[in-house]
Amino acid sequence: MTPAWSILPDEWKPILADRGLRPFRADQILQALYRDYIQSWDEATTLPKDLRETLKQEFPLTPCRELAVSASADGTKKLLLGYADGNSVETVLIPARERFTQCISTQVGCAMGCAFCASGSRGVVRSLTTDEIVAEYLAGRRHGEITNIVVMGMGEPFNNYDETIRALKLVNAGRGPNLGARHITISTCGVVPGFARLAAEGIQFELSVSLHAPTDELRSRLMPVNRRWPLDELLAACAAYTKATKRIITFEYTVIAGVNDSRAMAEELARQVRRVPMAKVNLIPLSPVEHRPDFKTPDDATMLMFLDVLMKRGVQTMLRRSRGKDANAACGQLRLHNLNSKKEP
Ligand code: SAH
Repeated sequence: MTPAWSILPDEWKPILADRGLRPFRADQILQALYRDYIQSWDEATTLPKDLRETLKQEFPLTPCRELAVSASADGTKKLLLGYADGNSVETVLIPARERFTQCISTQVGCAMGCAFCASGSRGVVRSLTTDEIVAEYLAGRRHGEITNIVVMGMGEPFNNYDETIRALKLVNAGRGPNLGARHITISTCGVVPGFARLAAEGIQFELSVSLHAPTDELRSRLMPVNRRWPLDELLAACAAYTKATKRIITFEYTVIAGVNDSRAMAEELARQVRRVPMAKVNLIPLSPVEHRPDFKTPDDATMLMFLDVLMKRGVQTMLRRSRGKDANAACGQLRLHNLNSKKEP
């Protein structure tokens, strides 16, 4: 048994042939999957009944269930999605002028334990499989045509590299959903081996790196991953990535009041970032999280001071608003849910 949503479009023909099925059916199967967006093989009425039965047995469709929707006043929607084993993740849909961005989770929980992030506050349960990540995208798609994906939900994508990249390749595939690679952004907290692997893929996905502190001392306190791969190693991996791919890296810097928001920190951040050619910085004010009431959102003046220091030192910088706070759908607010009371069959 191979879940249908784990098979890349170009793999269907040989896979069908291997199973003694007729390869010319691949085109009809792909149309059913990624033009009609069927949720069950019974909906694939262009296919003969006996083939539908075979597909059900051999290549099951594995949709997730939409367990809850929370809507924010700014139009952001958060979906709670349940999988067959009772685990669940959150995905966020963010409308903006001409865009409809989906923020995707790659793991149930997160192992990285960043101090300011709710996703890691209770550890990781397991990684999502390719078909589960694709099912997550398809669940989002039912709320509107997705124009952009950011892999910035729960989990560390480079800790689930193979399944995540495969799912993104599927969503990107011309004969699949056909979402442009440049409209797909992967974000990592700095799992260094992932950089060279991604560069070697030769696909034009965008890459973001969660930095959040310009010194090892502070970064190791906020982000345990820094003890394994400190700033020198991380920034060297980033520089190698931009050199190999000629693609920009965006550093995410969540500003936390009184923690990483001093002028000296901004100056040090500029110095560090300039070690990486073609780097940009996104400044994001902290979203409040329950487990760390001591971490506060900075005021606008602090954000502007940071912006000013970076710009004056020639670093391309953007101020980002975090959307969906009133639905707990903002950056860092996605978290594990205990669904034991309503386990899936
Ligand atoms: N593990 C990956 C993917 C998650 S991306 C990564 O760390 O990049 C989620 C982004 O939101 C990361 O940049 C993360 O550091 C940031 N974030 C986490 N908690 C936050 C908070 N409380 N406020 C604002 N941003 C936060």
